[in-house]
Order: sequence, then C-alpha cells, then structure tokens
Amino acid sequence: MDIQLIANFSYILSAGLFIYGLKLLGSPATARRGNMFSAIGMLIAVVAGLTATGIVDFKLIILGMVVGALIGATAARMVAMTGMPELVALFNGSGGAASLLVGWGTLYSASGEPVSTFTAFTVILAILIGGMTFTGSLVAYGKLSEKISSAALVFAGQRFFNGLLLLALLASGVMLCLDPSPNSIWFWAVLGLSLLIGIMAVIPIGGADMPVVISLLNSYSGIAACAAGFAINNNILIVAGSLVGASGIILTNIMCKAMNRSLANVLFSGFGSVKQGKAIEGEVKPISVEDAYYILEAASNVCFVPGYGMAVAQAQHVVKELGEILQKNGAEVSYAIHPVAGRMPGHMNVLLAEADVPYEQLVEMDEINPRIENVDVAIVIGANDVVNPSAREDSNSPIYGMPIINVDQAQTVFVLKRSMASGFSGVDNPLFFNENTRMLFGDAKESISGVVSEFGS
Ligand code: NDP
Repeated sequence: MDIQLIANFSYILSAGLFIYGLKLLGSPATARRGNMFSAIGMLIAVVAGLTATGIVDFKLIILGMVVGALIGATAARMVAMTGMPELVALFNGSGGAASLLVGWGTLYSASGEPVSTFTAFTVILAILIGGMTFTGSLVAYGKLSEKISSAALVFAGQRFFNGLLLLALLASGVMLCLDPSPNSIWFWAVLGLSLLIGIMAVIPIGGADMPVVISLLNSYSGIAACAAGFAINNNILIVAGSLVGASGIILTNIMCKAMNRSLANVLFSGFGSVKQGKAIEGEVKPISVEDAYYILEAASNVCFVPGYGMAVAQAQHVVKELGEILQKNGAEVSYAIHPVAGRMPGHMNVLLAEADVPYEQLVEMDEINPRIENVDVAIVIGANDVVNPSAREDSNSPIYGMPIINVDQAQTVFVLKRSMASGFSGVDNPLFFNENTRMLFGDAKESISGVVSEFGS
C-alpha cells in the first residue's frame, strides 16, 4: 500500500485518540487515561509523519524518541509539584520555538525556488506566533520562578511603543511575503520583532494574572503549530495545533471568569503594579494545635480549602489522613476547590488525587458557597487570595470581583499559614482578623500532623 495512504490513516487514528484523550481529561477520575491515549496518538503521528516524508530513517526516529523520552521523564520526575507551572511555561516555549524553526526551515525550499505567497504567509504566522510564544514563555517562566520580579512592568507610552512594534511587524511581514527568502532583511526583521513582541506582551502582566498567561501561551503554541502545519502541508500538525489552540483558549476563558475579569483587562491593565485597598484593622486570634483538636473533635461538618501553601508544605497526604479521622469521628468531610487555587489550573486536584482523596469529596466553589453556613469548621490550608473577602466587599481592592470561596461565612475558620504575609496578588486579607477566624501559625504539614497526633493520643 502507498506509504502516504498509510500515513493518512495513521493521522486519522491519531486525531481520534487526541479527541478521545481530551474528553477523558475533563474529569479527574479519567484524566490519567486521557493523557495516555493522547500520548499514544502523538507517538503514532510522529512516527507516521517522519516515515512518510522520508526525511530521516527509522534508526534516527528511535534515537530521537529515546533521547526525548529520557529528557521528558527526567524533567517531570525531578521537578517538584510546586515547580510544575514553570515546567509548563518551558514546555509552551519549546512548542513555540519548534514551530518557529519549522517555519524558518520551510523558506529553504528543496528546489531552490522561493516558496509561494500562501506558504510565505503561513511561515510568517508560524514565526510570529511561535517566536512570541517562545520569548513570552521565557518571561512567564522567569516571573513564576521569581528569577525576575513578578510585578507588572508598565511604563509611559508602553501601548504606543507596542503599537509601533506591531506596525513594523506588519510592514516587514508584507515585504517578506513579496520576497520570501531566508536571506532577506525582512525575514530577520520578522524574526526579531516577533521575539521582542513576546517579551513586551508579557512584562506588563503580573501578580494574580499569571494563570491566564500560562493557558494563553499554551493556546498560542497550538496556533503556531497549526500555522507550521499549513506551511509544511501536514494534516496532523494542523489538527493537533487546532486542538491545543482551541482548548487553551477555552481554559483561558474559564480562568478569566474565575477572576471576574475580561481577557483584555488581564492583558492590558497592568494589574498588580499598584497596591491598593482598605487598610485592615482588628485583632488576630492565634490557636494552638490542642485547641484546634478540641474544636474539630466536636465538629460534624468540616471543609478543607487548600491553596498554594498546601503544595509548598506537601501536606496533601496528612490532610487526607486527617479527613479520614474526622470521617470516622462522624463528621461530613469535603474539599472545596477554587479554579485558580495554587499556581496552575487543576493544581489542587492533582495534589489531592496524588494523596488518593476520593473524587466524590471534592466540591467546586459554586457548589460549596450556597451551603458554606452549614460548615462547622472550614480549614484553610495555605490558601489566601482565593478566600479573601475583600474580593467581595472592597471595591478598591485590586482583586475586587474575583469569585472566592466564602469561608468567612462558615461557623469557624482555621487558617493554616506561617505568618501574616499576603498571597500571590500581594493584597492583605481581612479574613485573618474576623471574629470567627483562628490562625494556626506554622508549616501546614506540621500543624495538620500535630492535630492528627492529638486524635491518636
Ligand atoms: P496564595 O498565593 O494567595 O497564598 C498562599 C499562602 O500559602 C501564602 O499566604 C503563604 O502564607 C501560605 N504558605 C506558603 N507556604 C506555606 C507552608 N509551608 N505552610 C503553610 N502555609 C504556607 O494562594 P491561593 O492558592 O489562595 O491563591 C492562588 C493565587 O495564585 C491567586 O492569586 C491566583 O490568581 C494566583 N495564581 C494561580 C495560578 C493557577 O493557575 N492556579 C497560577 C499562577 C498564579 P505564609 O507565607 O504566611 O505561610
């Protein structure tokens, strides 16, 4: 049978596996299988694509896969759960760089003739979006890992300057379409401007808006791959790129809704560069592990609200242990998950799944809020912004309008954290001063272990 026909059938199989994998990723219970199906789809697509084009022989394909698998497995194993968002940012950047290189390579046609205007157009898109994704992801990585300041960097005339860059890029792109040669000055202009625009697009975004940037860059890396697919006329690259682009933009939309912001506001408002909001007054009431135990012992409805600090403390296993003890003690136990708790979409779900917390005990923000008054004790484990009532009450607060888990409306709130420091957005939290709040200071894992020991003694 014709090798191209076999490749096309393989592409259809891969596309089916991608779509089925995406469907399974929709629920924590099936997400691992979804990942596996999608990975098998990608393996088939890569082998079929490289074999059909005959660019490299099978020995090189196997060598490439072994080297890639080793790098991927080592990176994923070495990176701590708290470093996952940075890893995702680097993956997005690599995807963008790969599309940029594919686009660039396409300009060197085998015949030596310049490529068609349509191909030149798709190449420009691949270089532009791939280049922006590459440098934008590196800046996002720097901000997330705090290698550079995570604050929004804004300066006078920034939008005007960015507008000029875009105009220059447009003009260079038109000139490159007319003379699609990799040696032309216009090619270097398109390449340089694309890389610069990626940096300029991400530096004014900071603080609490990083989740949106991650998923938006993920979407860009898909669109860049799609453009590269058109440039080299590869159907599965177009399909895979479209799926990543579309799912990334859907996730971006969900994240914006979770923060009650528009995408334009996230990208252009310089949010996080100015700290505002009401000054908070009141008295903090610390509580000891022993006293926390006495209150929990008598509670009949307990809700854990995890946040970034649970990931830092790696407290998920001991939290699950306490949940089981409370259940045996007769309490109803749930885990309320905020869509942007932690540092990446689904961060808390991943941690709790790792500790084997039963999926049926996980409740979403919209589900817990209407019945939060029935909760005897809400245990906030290293969460801060996602339970900050000023998002609901203080119209001057930078996070005003962001939906939160209303733990302040539970009967009693325990907040487990090490100090009075603010969370990722840098905004102070009046919850800590409320009448019904008790602060259990210390590392979350140590505090919860202490309570578990009290139940055992
Ligand atoms: P926050 O960043 O608001 O707060 C985390 C809290 O954890 C801190 O106040 C810190 O207080 C505490 N903490 C840190 N280490 C420990 C420890 N070892 N033990 C106990 N507590 C600890 O986290 P949230 O999850 O509430 O909110 C997420 C924020 O991150 C939001 O602003 C969101 O927009 C943003 N974000 C979300 C992303 C996502 O996709 N989920 C991605 C990037 C950003 P202390 O230092 O006093 O201990």
